[in-house]
Amino acid sequence: MKIEGTPRRRAGDCRAGAFLFVSRKASVSVMQKPVTEVLARNKAGESIFWRWWAQGLRRRTGEGNGGNMSRVGIIGGGAAGMLAAAAAAGQGQEVHLFEKNEKLGKKIYITGKGRCNVTNACAPEDFFQNVVTNGKFLYSSFYGFTNQDIMDLLEREGCPLKTERGQRVFPVSDKSSDVIKALSNHLSRLGVNVHYRQEVASLMIEEGRCVGLRLKSGREERFDRVIVATGGLSYPTTGSTGDGYRFAREAGHKVTELSPALVPFETAEPVGKELQGLALKNVEVTVYKGKKVLYREFGEMLFTHFGVSGPVLLSASSYAAKALKKEPLTLSIDLKPALSEEQLDARLVREFEGQQNKQFKNSLGGLLPAKLIPVMVDRSGIDPEKRVNEITRQERRQLLSALKDFRLTLTGLRGYNEAIITQGGVSVKEINPATMESKLVPGLFFAGEVLDVDAVTGGFNLQVAWSSGWAAGMGAEG
Ligand SMILES: Cc1cc2nc3c(=O)[nH]c(=O)nc-3n(C[C@H](O)[C@H](O)[C@H](O)COP(=O)(O)OP(=O)(O)OC[C@H]3O[C@@H](n4cnc5c(N)ncnc54)[C@H](O)[C@@H]3O)c2cc1C
Repeated sequence: MKIEGTPRRRAGDCRAGAFLFVSRKASVSVMQKPVTEVLARNKAGESIFWRWWAQGLRRRTGEGNGGNMSRVGIIGGGAAGMLAAAAAAGQGQEVHLFEKNEKLGKKIYITGKGRCNVTNACAPEDFFQNVVTNGKFLYSSFYGFTNQDIMDLLEREGCPLKTERGQRVFPVSDKSSDVIKALSNHLSRLGVNVHYRQEVASLMIEEGRCVGLRLKSGREERFDRVIVATGGLSYPTTGSTGDGYRFAREAGHKVTELSPALVPFETAEPVGKELQGLALKNVEVTVYKGKKVLYREFGEMLFTHFGVSGPVLLSASSYAAKALKKEPLTLSIDLKPALSEEQLDARLVREFEGQQNKQFKNSLGGLLPAKLIPVMVDRSGIDPEKRVNEITRQERRQLLSALKDFRLTLTGLRGYNEAIITQGGVSVKEINPATMESKLVPGLFFAGEVLDVDAVTGGFNLQVAWSSGWAAGMGAEG
């Protein structure tokens, strides 16, 4: 498309003062930008606004890509796909985003219980500690697009954010839809072509290179580069049905073993009958494989009709998923983690002193929630009808051990319908970590949950999607 006016200097060299010489249409869009944005500069001291405008100019004229504007096809309009689209379009590429749903970001909508925990405002080093699988692979992409970068982008697009407990970042409005709106606006301003209700059926690979994609309708679309951002298998009703794993395998990639993660556990013991709905704050849970500790953490847990859940156990599932496929694991719950054994024993003595003539089963109200009392009485092996003043030192010891080491057998994980994330995915050994391009098939890129990368809760998984998506979009430069 021919533009009416010409900037005074070369696009990349210009400063905000050159606006007077551009077309009337372009001037209007300039004037609509807030002054702060026009004046803002990036770390290299370049005008951020001017880079944005110049990129648009390059996109319209083909300048900046040696006159060759690349066509980039992106499969999946989730967190990773949208950021990939933003990065590629910002580089002046012609971007086409294919989403099988009728709207973008259907999974983002349900994140953070509808509030969207966008990212975590932790220090960069801490980010990697919260990535469970292949954290090192993310170094380059995270530093290329950090948690601060996604926060800046969303706020610039009219979605103010707040930081809560544990450095979790949410929109001030508590509405995930505002995050999606901000990102959608960003994409439309960058001229991304979004194709809704367009399910991609397969990749087109010719002479070892990815040259496009084939839609379910049979239509073929040719691209210079294709980014697969189809997500994992969790919550399949959002559109994430694992198509990207098939695309990867068909392209010759290895897909590591897949498992639901950040997901509740099923237990052998029917604790659910008695304890269903009971939430415990401040417990310490340890997951053992034999004697080996797989996971240990303080936090909050919940008993359900099938077993155990709650934040601390969801995180535990990410560390236990692989081992649990082979054998049942042991969960030990310390109900009184703030007290050492000696302190807890002294506490039991005090509790019992005040209720010498009560039956044992009626003496634990000061120590435990009501629902847990019959279970602990049973676990202690002490006769429930026994008077407190008849309880022996050995029996007190048994009770103490039940309180500090309440054991359950973990037999399995709930399925993908209840999993926050899929563990496993496209092997990162075959992916360039700086660009997310396949090392096997040039022109093919992967981003987001489809990769063999996963993190614990707290905004880290979305950050993985933002950072890897951005890297893929930048990597897809012509
Ligand atoms: C209930 C729940 C709550 C969560 N809460 C949080 C949270 O608060 N914070 C956090 O950090 N993480 C959270 N997560 C995890 C987070 O949502 C994911 O890590 C993230 O969405 C992954 O982004 P993605 O773009 O890789 O995949 P997705 O978001 O799954 O996007 C993939 C997109 O690709 C589309 N697609 C798939 N196949 C095709 C195809 N063949 N053709 C066209 N389109 C296709 C899908 O329709 C979908 O829109 C939560 C997850 C769940 C399930």
